[in-house]
Amino acid sequence: MKKKFKIPTIKVPKIETSENKTLPVEEKRKENQKSYDNHWRKFSNAFRKKHLFCKQCLKEGVYTYSDLHVDHIIPLVQRPDLKYVESNLQVLCRSCHGKKTYKETLGKEKGQ
Ligand SMILES: [Zn+2]
Repeated sequence: MKKKFKIPTIKVPKIETSENKTLPVEEKRKENQKSYDNHWRKFSNAFRKKHLFCKQCLKEGVYTYSDLHVDHIIPLVQRPDLKYVESNLQVLCRSCHGKKTYKETLGKEKGQ
């Protein structure tokens, strides 16, 4: 009795590369970096002298004064005209700033 061998066909699954997904974000990040020019650096330094603690940490009663970033409450991408408007600015520590940016990025991706 002869045995029939079936040659198994291997299906190669289409792997979605994460590269394609992250590329646009990377591009935007580069553009953002460009707009953080010297003028902004001076402006944000002055702003940080007025606001000494992370606003978000302060809400929880924590006084974080190191590694502070000046954040745009309404992101620059949405309202570039509010770049130097103090009411749209807040001082955040690196950790809080990171969380906010992460949420914004997530929200954007979901919305689109
Ligand atoms: Zn903080």
